[in-house]
Amino acid sequence: MNNRFVYLDHAATTAMRPEVYEAMQSYFIERYGNPSSIYSFARDGKKAIEGARDKVAGALGARAEEIFFTGSGTEADNWAIKGVAYANKFKGNHIITTSIEHHAVLNTCQYLEGDGFEVTYLPVDENGLVTPEQVERAIKSNTILISIMFANNEIGTIQPIAEIGKLTRKRGIYFHTDAVQAVGNVPINVAEMNIDLLSLSGHKFYGPKGIGSLYIRKGVKITSFLHGGAQERGRRASTENVPAIVGLGKAIEMASSNIEEESRKLIALRDRTIDEVMKGIPFVKLNGHRSQRLPGNINFSFEFIEGESVLLMLDMKGIAASTGSACTSGSLDPSHILLAIGVLPELANGSLRLTFGEENTQEDVDYLLEVLPAIVERLREMSPLYEGVEIGGKSYAV
Ligand SMILES: *Cc1c(COP(=O)(O)O)cnc(C)c1O
Repeated sequence: MNNRFVYLDHAATTAMRPEVYEAMQSYFIERYGNPSSIYSFARDGKKAIEGARDKVAGALGARAEEIFFTGSGTEADNWAIKGVAYANKFKGNHIITTSIEHHAVLNTCQYLEGDGFEVTYLPVDENGLVTPEQVERAIKSNTILISIMFANNEIGTIQPIAEIGKLTRKRGIYFHTDAVQAVGNVPINVAEMNIDLLSLSGHKFYGPKGIGSLYIRKGVKITSFLHGGAQERGRRASTENVPAIVGLGKAIEMASSNIEEESRKLIALRDRTIDEVMKGIPFVKLNGHRSQRLPGNINFSFEFIEGESVLLMLDMKGIAASTGSACTSGSLDPSHILLAIGVLPELANGSLRLTFGEENTQEDVDYLLEVLPAIVERLREMSPLYEGVEIGGKSYAV
């Protein structure tokens, strides 16, 4: 056996950068004061929080007072959607979202449906895109919120966020985007893109887990998320997680200062892998938009085999990948995202998500390209479905 390890699951989570870890360290045992305390010893923590807030604001083109720290990306999504829904109930009860959102958005919307709200789930095209025209057509007189993800966590497709922002602003309807996969990978400016609320999560861009942030444009009507003390201007009470907030600030600063160069590198790894796999392995389909996708994202469907089996065999070769989102692994249902872009259930079960990140190299791609074709071939040899195709049977992928 070899002891090589290649991590290709950056959409699930990323390793913290050493610089981020270092920035956090002193806030655990040395500078542990409660940021709400008055004495000078505690002021360090308060200052560190405000420094991190400035960094998040700077990365998004927002103002510091529009940035609120949360316990995760999931929490930011919950707060944005429930908070706007309940605070604007007097205006209407209709929400528009898409059928390919992360469960943090989908299940929150479903929860609200049980509480008197009406939700439209927009379908997407075969590339995973919604159009601004579709959004416009779905708007009704009682629409209060539109929530559309910036970039998809499984297939990487990037939505026309600025165009949607333009039309929602014109109509005076709040626009939330789950940008958890996009932050640090794609340039974002909430002011230029007319975004009213934006969710992000530290562990998706080399920061700590269990910390996120919600951008709330000044003037947006939203309920408080946690009731208690005066932290986060009374909107999200509880003693701040100072080390994690500091880590989030450092991570977003580092990720956003380097987007262009990093994305050029990731696109090179991505496109070489896509080209070689499509050339070298028959009956394979690329899911998601070919170019309007996250720099590090690949999602393939291999016909006649199960994605889970590919994962297990890649794992034996020291390669960590995914079949879809980490949150749904363990469930054998085909991904709601792949079904929404029209992938047949037979193919959706054969999907493999490879997501590259900053530590990946061309050598990692070499290694992947060395082992993947053999794995696919071996699994197909064991598949009764494949036998038929070799002698001229039916294929779905091509
Ligand atoms: C990971 C992810 C989330 C959830 O973020 P957590 O911080 O893990 O709760 C939400 N939306 C998308 C698109 C994600 O990729």
